[in-house]
Amino acid sequence: MSNEPIDCEECQEQVHEYLQREVNEDIAAAITAHLANCDHCEEMYNTEDQLNQVIRNACQTEAPEELIAKIRKHIAEIG
Ligand SMILES: [Zn+2]
Repeated sequence: MSNEPIDCEECQEQVHEYLQREVNEDIAAAITAHLANCDHCEEMYNTEDQLNQVIRNACQTEAPEELIAKIRKHIAEIG
């Protein structure tokens, strides 16, 4: 079976690559399934997603370093 469920630790290790679309399909499917069933990892994912958007926006406008620092701190706290 390639579609084995993953645990929280594994999910959190891969979530960054998942957001960057850098994981293979099997892992992406496993993470998607895990996020649907795990509020903790879903929050982690949402926070990472938010951070990525801030970074993307920062490329176009002024870098909101304070906000990035705040989100990084939040990730550290829930991780
Ligand atoms: Zn989890």
